[in-house]
Amino acid sequence: MNDDAQQFASDNYSGICPEAWGAMAEANAGHAPAYGEDAWTARAADAFRTLFETRCEVFFAFNGTAANALALASLCRSYHSVICADAAHVETDECGAPEFFSNGSKLLTVRTESGKLTPDAIRALATNRKDIHFPKVRVVTVTQPTETGQVYTLAELQAISATCRDLGLSLHMDGARFANACAHLGCSPADMTWRAGVDVLCFGGTKNGMHAGEAVVFFEPALAEDFGYRCKQAGQLASKMRFLSAPWVGILESGAWLHNAAHGNTCAQDFAAAVADMPGIAPMFPVEANAVFLAMPAEMMERLRAKGWRFYTFIGGGARFMFAWDAKRERVAELVADLRAVAAASA
Ligand SMILES: *Cc1c(COP(=O)(O)O)cnc(C)c1O
Repeated sequence: MNDDAQQFASDNYSGICPEAWGAMAEANAGHAPAYGEDAWTARAADAFRTLFETRCEVFFAFNGTAANALALASLCRSYHSVICADAAHVETDECGAPEFFSNGSKLLTVRTESGKLTPDAIRALATNRKDIHFPKVRVVTVTQPTETGQVYTLAELQAISATCRDLGLSLHMDGARFANACAHLGCSPADMTWRAGVDVLCFGGTKNGMHAGEAVVFFEPALAEDFGYRCKQAGQLASKMRFLSAPWVGILESGAWLHNAAHGNTCAQDFAAAVADMPGIAPMFPVEANAVFLAMPAEMMERLRAKGWRFYTFIGGGARFMFAWDAKRERVAELVADLRAVAAASA
């Protein structure tokens, strides 16, 4: 049964947005060729080319773990390595899938405060070892926005990609919440990716309002060679592909991808502002996307849970609240009121 009291534990607690749902309903009206030979899939790929203002190659995977792991594997040989932040989803939340699908390419983590990589850290790690005993550094992956909700500026991305070019490394972007970063920066998707030197992007659909699906976008078509085989081998080639591609048509052509994300970001901002003066509660990171992390005493968390709220504490021990495309203002206000009550009770 639907437990319909809205929660902010994760942006993928949300349902499917009307634009994605409508396109799926349309795609469901009849029969269509299988395995991506259908008109919806061609139209979705074109929608990406329009959005990114370039002739990119696009593949549709079921989820972000597969998209990231296969994209990284396509940039690496088994003896290569990939630089990522210590908090990166590819390192902490993909069960070794990038290493598995690349047949052993090692992830090299950089200790970071914000989850953001820097040119200096990349250079230090990439030039530390040149001998045959260490996996050769080949790729850098950035998460935009980071797992703690910070957004790389265009200048930061450009500086990272300049370092990558200098060192002969490819640049991959985990954009599970790509739309939230675009909404925050107010820049074009092209500026945040290929014009800033990103080679491959994983663009998240699930957290943006789709039922499922992430797009792997190659800005350098040569890098996409044989990627379809990789997807098929990994069990990521949908036979009824139109149901993975049609919702992209729904959210990209309507602009829902951006307004869904902007709504989540605004709710996060408003929520962070509303709790800013509460005793015992402190924000852990700047709020730039749709995430708010709050440090608070354990007993306050318990009281909040006792009031029926769900939230994760898996990053840095604080309470994480995520605001999705469908976050209801009245429900955010209820969370604020309950937080105020537990803060007062604990003070
Ligand atoms: C959610 C998320 C993913 C994708 O996760 P799946 O559960 O595999 O779809 C990838 N990267 C980041 C940063 C995420 O937050």
